[in-house]
Amino acid sequence: MEQANQLVLVTGGTRGIGRAIVEELTNVGRTVAFTWSSSSDLAEEVEQHTGGKAHGFHLDLRDRSRTKHLFDEVQARLGELSGLVNNAGVQRSELLALSSDETWDHILDVNLGGTFRMSREAIRAMIRRRAGSIVNVASLSALHAVAGQSAYAASKAGILATTRCLAREVGRFGIRINAVVPGFVETDMTSGLSEEAIAQLRASECLPDGVTTNNIAKVVEFLISDASAGITGQAIVVDAGTSA
Ligand code: NAD
Repeated sequence: MEQANQLVLVTGGTRGIGRAIVEELTNVGRTVAFTWSSSSDLAEEVEQHTGGKAHGFHLDLRDRSRTKHLFDEVQARLGELSGLVNNAGVQRSELLALSSDETWDHILDVNLGGTFRMSREAIRAMIRRRAGSIVNVASLSALHAVAGQSAYAASKAGILATTRCLAREVGRFGIRINAVVPGFVETDMTSGLSEEAIAQLRASECLPDGVTTNNIAKVVEFLISDASAGITGQAIVVDAGTSA
Protein backbone atom coordinates (compact mmCIF):
# COMPACT_ATOMS: atom_id res chain seq x y z
CA MET A 1 0.00 0.00 0.00
CA GLU A 2 1.22 3.54 -0.81
CA GLN A 3 2.68 5.03 2.34
CA ALA A 4 0.51 8.14 1.99
CA ASN A 5 -2.71 6.09 2.23
CA GLN A 6 -1.78 4.34 5.42
CA LEU A 7 -3.72 4.66 8.66
CA VAL A 8 -2.59 6.86 11.55
CA LEU A 9 -4.33 7.12 14.94
CA VAL A 10 -4.15 10.53 16.66
CA THR A 11 -5.33 11.11 20.24
CA GLY A 12 -7.13 14.36 21.06
CA GLY A 13 -7.88 15.27 17.45
CA THR A 14 -10.74 17.76 17.76
CA ARG A 15 -8.85 20.89 18.73
CA GLY A 16 -5.49 22.63 19.10
CA ILE A 17 -2.34 20.80 18.08
CA GLY A 18 -4.17 17.47 17.63
CA ARG A 19 -6.60 18.96 15.15
CA ALA A 20 -3.77 20.50 13.13
CA ILE A 21 -2.08 17.08 13.06
CA VAL A 22 -5.26 15.39 11.81
CA GLU A 23 -5.62 18.04 9.08
CA GLU A 24 -1.97 17.81 8.02
CA LEU A 25 -2.07 14.00 7.82
CA THR A 26 -5.29 13.97 5.80
CA ASN A 27 -3.91 16.74 3.54
CA VAL A 28 -1.02 14.47 2.54
CA GLY A 29 -3.53 11.71 1.75
CA ARG A 30 -3.52 9.58 4.87
CA THR A 31 -6.52 7.97 6.49
CA VAL A 32 -6.77 9.16 10.09
CA ALA A 33 -8.55 7.76 13.13
CA PHE A 34 -8.70 10.43 15.81
CA THR A 35 -10.01 10.32 19.34
CA TRP A 36 -12.31 12.80 21.05
CA SER A 37 -13.18 12.89 24.74
CA SER A 38 -15.77 15.60 25.34
CA SER A 39 -17.50 16.91 22.20
CA SER A 40 -19.06 14.62 19.59
CA ASP A 41 -20.15 17.76 17.69
CA LEU A 42 -16.53 18.85 17.27
CA ALA A 43 -15.60 15.32 16.19
CA GLU A 44 -18.29 15.42 13.49
CA GLU A 45 -17.02 18.82 12.35
CA VAL A 46 -13.48 17.42 11.93
CA GLU A 47 -14.84 14.43 9.97
CA GLN A 48 -16.74 16.75 7.62
CA HIS A 49 -13.91 19.24 7.29
CA THR A 50 -11.49 16.49 6.19
CA GLY A 51 -13.89 15.17 3.56
CA GLY A 52 -14.38 11.85 5.32
CA LYS A 53 -10.66 11.03 5.51
CA ALA A 54 -10.65 11.37 9.32
CA HIS A 55 -12.85 9.22 11.57
CA GLY A 56 -13.65 10.02 15.20
CA PHE A 57 -13.63 7.49 18.06
CA HIS A 58 -14.45 8.19 21.70
CA LEU A 59 -11.63 7.77 24.22
CA ASP A 60 -10.98 8.81 27.80
CA LEU A 61 -7.32 8.00 28.35
CA ARG A 62 -7.98 7.24 32.03
CA ASP A 63 -10.24 4.32 31.10
CA ARG A 64 -8.06 1.19 31.39
CA SER A 65 -10.49 -1.09 29.57
CA ARG A 66 -11.07 1.21 26.58
CA THR A 67 -7.64 1.18 24.93
CA LYS A 68 -7.69 -2.37 23.57
CA HIS A 69 -11.30 -2.04 22.37
CA LEU A 70 -10.40 1.21 20.64
CA PHE A 71 -7.61 -0.45 18.63
CA ASP A 72 -9.89 -3.37 17.75
CA GLU A 73 -12.62 -0.96 16.58
CA VAL A 74 -10.26 1.26 14.60
CA GLN A 75 -8.56 -1.63 12.82
CA ALA A 76 -11.81 -3.51 12.12
CA ARG A 77 -13.23 -0.37 10.50
CA LEU A 78 -10.19 1.19 8.80
CA GLY A 79 -7.52 -1.49 8.39
CA GLU A 80 -4.07 -1.99 9.84
CA LEU A 81 -2.37 0.76 11.74
CA SER A 82 0.89 2.25 10.49
CA GLY A 83 1.23 5.22 12.85
CA LEU A 84 0.20 6.53 16.27
CA VAL A 85 0.41 10.11 17.54
CA ASN A 86 0.09 10.41 21.33
CA ASN A 87 -1.05 14.02 21.39
CA ALA A 88 -3.84 14.29 23.99
CA GLY A 89 -2.78 15.76 27.30
CA VAL A 90 -3.76 17.88 30.28
CA GLN A 91 -2.03 20.69 32.15
CA ARG A 92 -2.88 22.35 35.47
CA SER A 93 -0.67 24.98 37.05
CA GLU A 94 -0.24 24.33 40.79
CA LEU A 95 2.72 24.96 43.06
CA LEU A 96 3.91 21.57 44.31
CA ALA A 97 3.59 22.44 48.01
CA LEU A 98 -0.07 23.39 47.46
CA SER A 99 -0.92 20.65 44.98
CA SER A 100 -3.31 17.76 45.66
CA ASP A 101 -2.84 14.02 45.13
CA GLU A 102 -5.73 14.28 42.68
CA THR A 103 -3.93 16.78 40.44
CA TRP A 104 -0.70 14.77 40.47
CA ASP A 105 -2.48 11.47 39.73
CA HIS A 106 -4.71 12.97 37.04
CA ILE A 107 -1.89 14.59 35.05
CA LEU A 108 0.43 11.56 35.32
CA ASP A 109 -2.41 9.18 34.48
CA VAL A 110 -3.63 11.01 31.34
CA ASN A 111 -0.28 12.17 29.94
CA LEU A 112 2.15 9.40 30.85
CA GLY A 113 -0.24 6.51 31.59
CA GLY A 114 -2.24 7.29 28.45
CA THR A 115 0.89 7.32 26.30
CA PHE A 116 1.97 4.01 27.87
CA ARG A 117 -1.37 2.25 27.28
CA MET A 118 -1.78 3.55 23.72
CA SER A 119 1.81 2.71 22.77
CA ARG A 120 1.49 -0.82 24.20
CA GLU A 121 -1.51 -1.58 21.98
CA ALA A 122 0.05 0.08 18.94
CA ILE A 123 3.29 -1.88 19.30
CA ARG A 124 1.34 -5.15 19.45
CA ALA A 125 -0.37 -4.25 16.17
CA MET A 126 2.81 -2.93 14.52
CA ILE A 127 5.01 -5.90 15.44
CA ARG A 128 2.76 -8.10 13.27
CA ARG A 129 3.49 -5.82 10.30
CA ARG A 130 7.18 -5.35 11.12
CA ALA A 131 6.69 -1.60 10.54
CA GLY A 132 5.27 1.47 12.24
CA SER A 133 5.98 4.91 13.63
CA ILE A 134 4.89 6.43 16.93
CA VAL A 135 5.19 10.16 17.69
CA ASN A 136 4.75 11.41 21.25
CA VAL A 137 3.92 15.04 21.95
CA ALA A 138 6.04 16.10 24.92
CA SER A 139 6.70 19.69 26.06
CA LEU A 140 9.54 22.12 26.63
CA SER A 141 8.48 21.97 30.30
CA ALA A 142 10.16 18.54 30.39
CA LEU A 143 13.51 20.22 29.72
CA HIS A 144 13.21 23.70 31.25
CA ALA A 145 11.83 24.45 34.69
CA VAL A 146 8.52 26.30 34.94
CA ALA A 147 7.15 27.02 38.42
CA GLY A 148 3.76 25.38 38.92
CA GLN A 149 4.35 22.61 36.40
CA SER A 150 6.00 19.81 38.41
CA ALA A 151 3.37 17.17 37.61
CA TYR A 152 3.10 18.22 33.97
CA ALA A 153 6.88 18.39 33.55
CA ALA A 154 7.30 14.99 35.22
CA SER A 155 4.71 13.46 32.90
CA LYS A 156 6.39 14.94 29.81
CA ALA A 157 9.91 14.02 30.95
CA GLY A 158 8.56 10.50 31.50
CA ILE A 159 7.28 10.53 27.94
CA LEU A 160 10.75 11.46 26.65
CA ALA A 161 12.36 8.66 28.67
CA THR A 162 9.75 6.17 27.47
CA THR A 163 10.33 7.31 23.87
CA ARG A 164 14.02 6.39 24.12
CA CYS A 165 13.50 3.03 25.90
CA LEU A 166 10.78 1.91 23.53
CA ALA A 167 12.87 2.90 20.51
CA ARG A 168 15.52 0.44 21.76
CA GLU A 169 12.97 -2.28 22.42
CA VAL A 170 11.21 -2.26 19.06
CA GLY A 171 13.69 -0.91 16.51
CA ARG A 172 14.51 -4.45 15.40
CA PHE A 173 10.87 -4.83 14.28
CA GLY A 174 11.16 -1.78 12.03
CA ILE A 175 9.16 0.36 14.45
CA ARG A 176 10.32 3.92 15.20
CA ILE A 177 9.43 6.00 18.28
CA ASN A 178 10.12 9.74 18.40
CA ALA A 179 8.90 12.81 20.24
CA VAL A 180 8.06 16.39 19.34
CA VAL A 181 8.78 18.96 22.02
CA PRO A 182 6.65 22.08 21.52
CA GLY A 183 7.37 25.41 23.15
CA PHE A 184 4.53 27.88 23.68
CA VAL A 185 1.62 27.41 21.25
CA GLU A 186 -1.68 29.30 21.42
CA THR A 187 -4.41 26.71 22.06
CA ASP A 188 -7.17 26.05 24.62
CA MET A 189 -4.46 24.69 26.92
CA THR A 190 -2.69 28.07 27.08
CA SER A 191 -5.81 30.27 26.80
CA GLY A 192 -5.91 30.86 30.57
CA LEU A 193 -2.49 32.54 30.61
CA SER A 194 -2.42 36.28 31.27
CA GLU A 195 -1.14 38.63 28.56
CA GLU A 196 1.86 39.31 30.77
CA ALA A 197 2.69 35.61 31.10
CA ILE A 198 2.37 35.14 27.33
CA ALA A 199 4.61 38.15 26.68
CA GLN A 200 7.22 36.65 29.00
CA LEU A 201 7.12 33.29 27.24
CA ARG A 202 7.28 34.92 23.82
CA ALA A 203 10.19 37.17 24.84
CA SER A 204 12.57 34.21 24.90
CA GLU A 205 11.78 33.15 21.32
CA CYS A 206 14.21 33.91 18.47
CA LEU A 207 11.53 33.88 15.79
CA PRO A 208 9.00 36.74 15.82
CA ASP A 209 6.08 34.58 14.69
CA GLY A 210 6.45 32.01 17.47
CA VAL A 211 5.12 28.48 17.00
CA THR A 212 1.75 27.61 15.46
CA THR A 213 -0.22 24.37 15.71
CA ASN A 214 0.56 23.89 12.04
CA ASN A 215 4.33 24.10 12.67
CA ILE A 216 4.02 21.21 15.13
CA ALA A 217 1.79 19.23 12.76
CA LYS A 218 4.35 19.42 9.93
CA VAL A 219 7.08 17.97 12.17
CA VAL A 220 4.75 15.21 13.38
CA GLU A 221 3.91 14.32 9.77
CA PHE A 222 7.63 14.17 8.96
CA LEU A 223 8.32 11.84 11.90
CA ILE A 224 5.37 9.60 11.03
CA SER A 225 6.42 9.34 7.39
CA ASP A 226 9.22 7.39 5.72
CA ALA A 227 10.98 10.73 5.11
CA SER A 228 12.33 10.28 8.65
CA ALA A 229 13.41 6.63 8.22
CA GLY A 230 16.63 6.31 10.20
CA ILE A 231 15.42 8.59 13.01
CA THR A 232 14.30 6.88 16.22
CA GLY A 233 14.49 7.56 19.95
CA GLN A 234 14.81 11.31 19.26
CA ALA A 235 13.05 14.43 20.45
CA ILE A 236 12.68 17.37 18.07
CA VAL A 237 12.23 20.71 19.79
CA VAL A 238 9.85 23.12 18.02
CA ASP A 239 10.00 26.24 20.16
CA ALA A 240 10.86 29.17 17.88
CA GLY A 241 14.30 29.13 19.45
CA THR A 242 13.31 29.54 23.11
CA SER A 243 15.86 26.93 24.17
CA ALA A 244 18.58 28.11 21.77
P1 NAD B 1 -5.75 21.28 24.07
O1 NAD B 1 -6.20 21.43 25.48
O2 NAD B 1 -6.41 22.07 23.02
O3 NAD B 1 -5.83 19.75 23.63
C1 NAD B 1 -5.70 18.69 24.52
C2 NAD B 1 -6.40 17.48 23.92
O4 NAD B 1 -6.28 16.39 24.84
C3 NAD B 1 -7.89 17.73 23.69
O5 NAD B 1 -8.27 17.22 22.43
C4 NAD B 1 -8.57 16.94 24.80
O6 NAD B 1 -9.84 16.43 24.47
C5 NAD B 1 -7.57 15.78 25.00
N1 NAD B 1 -7.70 15.17 26.31
C6 NAD B 1 -7.56 15.78 27.52
N2 NAD B 1 -7.82 14.90 28.51
C7 NAD B 1 -8.11 13.71 27.91
C8 NAD B 1 -8.46 12.42 28.40
N3 NAD B 1 -8.61 12.16 29.71
N4 NAD B 1 -8.69 11.44 27.51
C9 NAD B 1 -8.56 11.68 26.18
N5 NAD B 1 -8.25 12.87 25.65
C10 NAD B 1 -8.03 13.88 26.52
O7 NAD B 1 -4.19 21.59 24.11
P2 NAD B 1 -3.02 21.49 23.01
O8 NAD B 1 -2.14 22.64 23.28
O9 NAD B 1 -3.55 21.26 21.65
O10 NAD B 1 -2.26 20.19 23.56
C11 NAD B 1 -1.92 19.08 22.73
C12 NAD B 1 -0.65 18.45 23.27
O11 NAD B 1 0.43 19.38 23.13
C13 NAD B 1 -0.71 18.10 24.76
O12 NAD B 1 -0.07 16.87 24.99
C14 NAD B 1 0.08 19.24 25.40
O13 NAD B 1 0.64 18.85 26.64
C15 NAD B 1 1.13 19.48 24.35
N6 NAD B 1 1.80 20.78 24.44
C16 NAD B 1 1.12 21.94 24.26
C17 NAD B 1 1.80 23.15 24.35
C18 NAD B 1 1.10 24.48 24.17
O14 NAD B 1 1.75 25.53 24.40
N7 NAD B 1 -0.16 24.53 23.74
C19 NAD B 1 3.16 23.17 24.61
C20 NAD B 1 3.83 21.95 24.78
C21 NAD B 1 3.13 20.77 24.68
